[in-house]
Amino acid sequence: MMTQASARTLLIRGARVFDHDGDIDDPPIRDVLLEGSRIVSVTAPGADAEVKGGVPDVIEARGKLIMPGFVNAHYHSYDVLAKGLLEDMPFDVWALHSQPAYFGRRSKAELRVRTLLGALECLRNGITTIQDMNSLVPQDEETLDTILCGYAEIGIRVVFSIALRDVAALDIAPFLPADMPEDALAIVRGAPKDPKEEIAFVERQIKRLHPLPPRLTWGLSPSGPQRSSRVLLEGFADLARRHELPVFTHVYETKAQTAKARAIYGDHGGSMIRHLADIGLLSPRTTIAHGVWLTPDEITLMAEHRTGIAHNPISNLKLKSGVAPMAMALRAGVNVALGCDNCSCGDCQSMFQAMKMFCLLAAVTDASPTGVHARDAVKAATLGGARAMGLQGEIGAIRAGMKADLVIIDLDDVAYQPLNSVARQLVFSEVGRGIETVIVGGDVVIRERRVMTIDEQALRDELASLMPQFRRDFARIAKANDPVIPYLFAANERLKSHSVGINRFVCT
Ligand SMILES: [Zn+2]
Repeated sequence: MMTQASARTLLIRGARVFDHDGDIDDPPIRDVLLEGSRIVSVTAPGADAEVKGGVPDVIEARGKLIMPGFVNAHYHSYDVLAKGLLEDMPFDVWALHSQPAYFGRRSKAELRVRTLLGALECLRNGITTIQDMNSLVPQDEETLDTILCGYAEIGIRVVFSIALRDVAALDIAPFLPADMPEDALAIVRGAPKDPKEEIAFVERQIKRLHPLPPRLTWGLSPSGPQRSSRVLLEGFADLARRHELPVFTHVYETKAQTAKARAIYGDHGGSMIRHLADIGLLSPRTTIAHGVWLTPDEITLMAEHRTGIAHNPISNLKLKSGVAPMAMALRAGVNVALGCDNCSCGDCQSMFQAMKMFCLLAAVTDASPTGVHARDAVKAATLGGARAMGLQGEIGAIRAGMKADLVIIDLDDVAYQPLNSVARQLVFSEVGRGIETVIVGGDVVIRERRVMTIDEQALRDELASLMPQFRRDFARIAKANDPVIPYLFAANERLKSHSVGINRFVCT
């Protein structure tokens, strides 16, 4: 009782409150009362929300909109400092410039700064939950702890997963020219790992860091099925069952990965999805990132197994991966979440960009109505993400009893003038400019555009002091890996005429 009485209370008064099942064009005005980390009540104005535990802190929010915090369901924090450094590269060429293995050990200061900076960008855009699929380099406890401490400090909600792979082969390797010299091959070859040791490392961390700080939870991530041995995938399936954790993995991001699936999963008709089903990983706990090259049959199978998709429309386009069949997935009843992916292949952590592209890209095949509307985009960016995170019923909507993960948006912004439809203007007009206040688990992390949990100027100063070294390293890696690039482009050319049975590029 004492803890209840002393829990912080916060009353947000007089805002329009978005309800997925209510009037999403013209949401009604409500008072929202928060206590501790949760929403206590959503009531009509003047109904005097019953406040226990003393006089609440009050945010007067007339003329504002309260949205559930957005869920960025696919994100990697390792390349935050490479934002804006790359463009016009297909996936495999981009990977040469961005993968953490090439960068090796980074300073603790850099790990902390990149974690905070990426989280701050998300928060400023109204994202209250991220799924950070992170490759730890080196894979040790100090690296992990530094990143998790950064997240605890800034106050964003994170489902954190350590990305693992044990198969070293490059996805596009079968298409590389036969005359590729050995020194160029050595750059992309990688080294295989022991799957049992890899799984044991993850389980040790889950046990060592239990419980995690508030707002942090675990996810599990084989980097991609084709980069994982059967033993590694079975290890993940076992961990997911025993610890009841969500699983996130890259599936069919590129045509090269699809070609590889056709070659190595002969037992399953060349299907990565059927291979996952065989291992027990095609489950309601699993969300696949991208799914650009899914076939209609595989989408049906995913719906049957209640396996979800994290759709990353911006990075799919920036890395020339193709257009994901998301209208088909939505119609099949697959849970669709939205992600913004890496900072060096999307360059912007914005669910507004993702929501808009989700709707617009559904129309690339023909001019018929797509059925992918603003309502679906907002749902994917909130409830769909919550379901993918394994946090359904906890986040994604503004209801009594749910976590207080909220965003207050200024409806005086020109994006909402005139106010014809809140849902459509959020998806098609908002660019992030209207976001004023962001609350995560009842804590006000951004208040009237000012971040409360960290010193933003100090972060910028520290970033500036780290960037000369980062830029030198980035240039050194780009130069060292440069000899591989012509061979990767040649492989991409050979891939063009190779059939995988479907096409995900728009034909002209
Ligand atoms: Zn990814």
